[in-house]
Amino acid sequence: MQSSMSKQDPRIRMGRAMISEIKGLHHVTSLAADAGENNRFFTKTLGLRRVKKTVNFDAPEVYHLYYGDAVGTPGSVMTYFPYGMIQRGKRGIGEVGITEFAIPQGSLPYWAERLAAAGIDRLDHETSFGEARLLFSGPDGDGFALVESATDDREPWTGSDVPEDAGILGFRGARFQLRDAAATGELLEFMGYQKAEAEGDVTRFIIEGGNAADRIDLQALPGAHAAQQGAGSVHHIAFAVENRDAQLNVRKALMDTGYQVTPVIDRDYFWAIYFRTPGGVLFEVATNEPGFDRDEDTAHLGEALKLPARYEPLRDKIEGRLPVIT
Ligand code: ZN
Repeated sequence: MQSSMSKQDPRIRMGRAMISEIKGLHHVTSLAADAGENNRFFTKTLGLRRVKKTVNFDAPEVYHLYYGDAVGTPGSVMTYFPYGMIQRGKRGIGEVGITEFAIPQGSLPYWAERLAAAGIDRLDHETSFGEARLLFSGPDGDGFALVESATDDREPWTGSDVPEDAGILGFRGARFQLRDAAATGELLEFMGYQKAEAEGDVTRFIIEGGNAADRIDLQALPGAHAAQQGAGSVHHIAFAVENRDAQLNVRKALMDTGYQVTPVIDRDYFWAIYFRTPGGVLFEVATNEPGFDRDEDTAHLGEALKLPARYEPLRDKIEGRLPVIT
């Protein structure tokens, strides 16, 4: 798959019809070292629900763990490939530097105390675009922010010990760190985002009429070194479309503009296409259908190891190699 996603610098022609099918973020997928630590952090410390326990479809000796709200609503789903003994990534340009979660208005003090008590590194308060945020690192140095939102009416997962009035509501957005933000900004506009305000070296893009995970911030850091992918790095960021027809329209529009886009790939819980963007970040466009309850009862999401049909004959071998997580 990697070879078909070469970097390029497409010219987005002015006047071309913009893509109108993208509805904000679908999921963010990152790399981790230890599966157990990753599982504990997202389910216990952050209080998300594990909505799927499966394997990397391209490397079945590695888990693919999905965390989100009660059903893994698109726009809430943080996913991980915990590779075990891999080196930690180096933060830099050409990647998603900060993945941002929305929390209810007034809940930042609760989170600051909770994360400090859990021994989380690099807790840092800041205000960005008028919003109070708490920056922190995940177990592998992953860059996260919790952002208070007064207008977000999504429901948090209530099966953890995080109080309901503080629970994570899903993604708010993401901040990319780029050498030059111009080409990625043009791409986002082509994908239906509108340039909003700028603050310092950060420009905000918002998608109208999408889900609540509707913003992308581009931070231009021309002098910074390139990111090195490893544990704690975002592997790709996925944007949501309603269904497969919408996905095919997006794929055609991107290819007409000069992007090399993969064929549609069945990921069991959504269909996926991937393409590399000018700033270096790998984008996916994923369908909201069929969802994480297609092969599990909603009450027991994420409990059993689910395998794609082609690996089912190897279940014993695969299960025997994976670390046990609870
Ligand atoms: Zn993905």
